[in-house]
Amino acid sequence: MSRTPSPRSKLEMIEFLKNHFRYPTMNSWNRATSYARNIKIHRLRLDRETESRCFEMLEIAEAFDDFSAALHEFGVRHDYEWQISQNGRSGGYLVLYRGGKKDSGYKTRCDTCLIPTWYETEEPCHVSGCGGTLKRLTAPLWQVYMQPGLGTDDDQDFESMNYEDLRKRVILIKDFDETCERAVKAFLDFAKSHQIKEQEIKVAKTVKVAVEI
Ligand SMILES: [Zn+2]
Repeated sequence: MSRTPSPRSKLEMIEFLKNHFRYPTMNSWNRATSYARNIKIHRLRLDRETESRCFEMLEIAEAFDDFSAALHEFGVRHDYEWQISQNGRSGGYLVLYRGGKKDSGYKTRCDTCLIPTWYETEEPCHVSGCGGTLKRLTAPLWQVYMQPGLGTDDDQDFESMNYEDLRKRVILIKDFDETCERAVKAFLDFAKSHQIKEQEIKVAKTVKVAVEI
């Protein structure tokens, strides 16, 4: 896990972008690719004990809380225009995706169950058993979307880009790299500070019994 120094000259920036690891945004037969990072456990150069702990933690949803939060914050930072998501079999790669947000179109929202609806007038909630009222939304409810069909800088002619555009792209990719680093570190920290313990849980089960009538 090494951090490359920030490139300065135009040539350095072009080299940085051109040499960055890339991965398909959808699948290998779709031509679109984007900036990416391999996060397969055996590629993280861990000692044997940490590595086996990491493999165990793959089954624990909680182990990914901070990992996912780091990726989510990246999306928020870029107003969802850029997002990071896992791709590849078993999600072994983090990939930079294009995306955005749009008005979900909802007009009202229940003040009790909080379910948004397309009803335009304030009226009693239609969810059975909910006594709430549908209130007009004062701001749009944003719906976030990703565009996995679009690659980033596939066949980009970096040489013809101006300095400012190149610099902006480098800053974005540096942020991508640092976010991936932070996400992986969050998962590793969890794996190093937890161990798997088997716990027996009682499961409620419905059975049929005959009762005398
Ligand atoms: Zn309701």
